[in-house]
Amino acid sequence: LIAYLNGAFAPLATLQVPVLDRGFLFGDGVYEVIPVYSRRPFRLLEHIRRLGRSLAAARIDDPHNEAQWLDLVHKLVAQQPFEDQSVYLQVTRGPAYPRNHVFPNVAQPTVFAYADPLLPPAPALVQQGVSAVSADDIRWLRCNVKATSLLANVLLRQMAADAGVTETVLFRDGLLIEGSASNIFVVKEGQLLAPPPSHLMLTGITYDLVLELAATHRIAYQQRAITAAEVRAADELWLSSSSKELLAITELDDLKIGNGQPGPLYRAMYQHYLDFKRDVMRA
Ligand code: PLP
Repeated sequence: LIAYLNGAFAPLATLQVPVLDRGFLFGDGVYEVIPVYSRRPFRLLEHIRRLGRSLAAARIDDPHNEAQWLDLVHKLVAQQPFEDQSVYLQVTRGPAYPRNHVFPNVAQPTVFAYADPLLPPAPALVQQGVSAVSADDIRWLRCNVKATSLLANVLLRQMAADAGVTETVLFRDGLLIEGSASNIFVVKEGQLLAPPPSHLMLTGITYDLVLELAATHRIAYQQRAITAAEVRAADELWLSSSSKELLAITELDDLKIGNGQPGPLYRAMYQHYLDFKRDVMRA
């Protein structure tokens, strides 16, 4: 597999970064995951712009302009043996000696990119929905930054894996935030509800697309604070991410959501999502 590191493409297995890279020592970096269908990156500009915002928040100088990022991704995608891909982009503050929390005077960011094969969610998951557990959000207060320091997300996601379910739904002070690696939507009485973007959550590219599709198809939605009680009493609960697309959560902590089946609004929105994807890929 061909990957990219600091200006050059080479086989993934041959790439190495210095052990003093601040990404390794501090998780001092940011990243993006971009889905690619039939070799066409999906919502690429949105992902590159979010990467720019993450870099700015982390105070890492953006090593590339927008055109260079697009070019890098397209060149990487062209060299993969598979059509559907999940492109991973990472920028760290780079290597520095000696180890010191303070930014180095001269930093050369490390830019890494590679692609995995992208597998869409299994049809059974779309048909039957998935289960989730809930947990208090133990993360920091800058979750809008897509940072590589993911220890809290890792621990929270492992809670789901240990329970044999798909996702951990996070609450802070009794309010719905997001999943450990996804955004969460609620449907109540035909209305779509989404937590409002804030520093407490990552505004997903898929989150934005779902709301854009809601507007296009005249599905009423509201971005507002959602309580844990509202989540438990929801008619439908969804999760969204670039890799999981849109899935219905039909069980939360052993409690059935709605009638325990993916609901009608989920089915409609998932179809809008597939149609949108197909149209973009054809264009
Ligand atoms: N929230 C978190 C914490 C995530 O890690 C992700 C992505 O993996 C998302 C939300 C969904 O973002 P996107 O739709 O851009 O993939």
